[in-house]
Amino acid sequence: MGYNGVNIEKTSVEIREKRLNSINGYEGTASDLCKSYDNKTLCNRNRSFTQCTTCSADQVMNQLSCIQDAAIVEHGPAGCSGDIPRRNLVNRSGRRARNIPVANVQYINTNLMEKDTIYGGLKKLENAIREAKNRFDPKAIFVTTTCASAIIGDDIESVTDKIEEEIGIPVVAIYCEGFRSRIWATGFDASYHGILRKLVKPAVKRQSDVVNIINFHGTDVFSPLFAKIGLKVNYIVPFTTIEQLSNISEAAATLQICSSLGTYLAAGLEKYFGVPEVKAPGPYGAAGFNAWIRELGKIVHKEEEVEKLIEEEKNRTAPRIAELREKLAGKKVFIGAGSAYAHGIIAIVKELGMELVSASTWHHDPIFDNFDKKADTLRSALENYGDFKISVCNKQSYELVSMLYKYKPDIYIGRHTGTIWATKLGIPSFLSLDEHYGVGYQGLINYGELILDTISNTSFVKGIAAHNKLPYTDWWLKQETFKFMEESK
Ligand code: SF4
Repeated sequence: MGYNGVNIEKTSVEIREKRLNSINGYEGTASDLCKSYDNKTLCNRNRSFTQCTTCSADQVMNQLSCIQDAAIVEHGPAGCSGDIPRRNLVNRSGRRARNIPVANVQYINTNLMEKDTIYGGLKKLENAIREAKNRFDPKAIFVTTTCASAIIGDDIESVTDKIEEEIGIPVVAIYCEGFRSRIWATGFDASYHGILRKLVKPAVKRQSDVVNIINFHGTDVFSPLFAKIGLKVNYIVPFTTIEQLSNISEAAATLQICSSLGTYLAAGLEKYFGVPEVKAPGPYGAAGFNAWIRELGKIVHKEEEVEKLIEEEKNRTAPRIAELREKLAGKKVFIGAGSAYAHGIIAIVKELGMELVSASTWHHDPIFDNFDKKADTLRSALENYGDFKISVCNKQSYELVSMLYKYKPDIYIGRHTGTIWATKLGIPSFLSLDEHYGVGYQGLINYGELILDTISNTSFVKGIAAHNKLPYTDWWLKQETFKFMEESK
């Protein structure tokens, strides 16, 4: 075991391809994917044709744009701000859900133009940082890079270091230009790298009853649950304040609801600030939840309380789960989602007795930054439920359409994308937006009921499919799904 991955002495994060051997092209089985990592034969498979996907800069906004009292200066062309309206929607609705005054994201784009790509954009960047300070009076400013500012080689740190002294608040450079990594989840790591380097302070005293949970924007299900075992929850990073972030080193442990999201921050907090990371698969399905919370129990010395909580949850939910299993037995499901999160949904559908025809993840992390195979979410799904088909499709819609067309599942469960294609193909589907919805025993009921509801009346999607003309021809639909992916070596 080691911590080769997290290194905050460097100005920028090492990309996932190098740090974790992450890939974005694969077709095979869960057992083969795990074995190829163990044998050191896991290679990415490139594509000769790709449609659009997302980029690291967007994932940085995902984590940083909702910090209540920070501002972001994105150093790039206006086009890179295309994700901001959606981020603002998430910010406003999330604030409302957590009883924080509703406000817009505090964001400025430097609007790099053609001329700036020749003469440099540092003057614009300086002005934008000062403008952000004047306009928003933030407690910290994040300066994020884009493809254009990285290509022209603007020396961001020279500006952030200088202005930080001038304006008296942390100005944190985040290197997240889209072309830097083919794994867009590297953007999560880039934002955490900046937080670990410049914002988190060494703990003054440890708070034995507070645990960090690295999450996206989900509903607060953990506070009532953890109150039963005498713990308080500190959700990070969205919706925190800079002061809260600077004190996350005081927590008794760090948990993650998705290791593809939190891997770098959890490992970095343990390595540099001594906060133990809960090294377990995600809290999905009974098996995942039990392993996750038992690992926490060991760290915070609450093994008995945890066992009692598991027993209570199991007994409370057992009758309804049994009913749902009966109704869902053998229903075919196809899953498309981010890496670790997809493995969490696999756990849920397997425990509900459904037939997983295949899953496709947007990328694959064969290990996380703690380098502990016990925390490997795919390995855990394989061990708990047996082998299954899996691919890594990098959000390529043409591949997703092909798989849905061929597998014809009773339901598609997706995150980020794919439900519109499923609908056009007459397949019922839903987007799994709230990552806390599937947590623990209650998560099995939540998902089971939603799946049942979604497949109970298919006339709407069948009607859409009957009147819809796909842009994909029969030529494509009858091809091999991964025709444009190079052969494995
Ligand atoms: S950073 Fe690069 S990949 Fe991301 S939106 Fe801007 S130009 Fe596109």
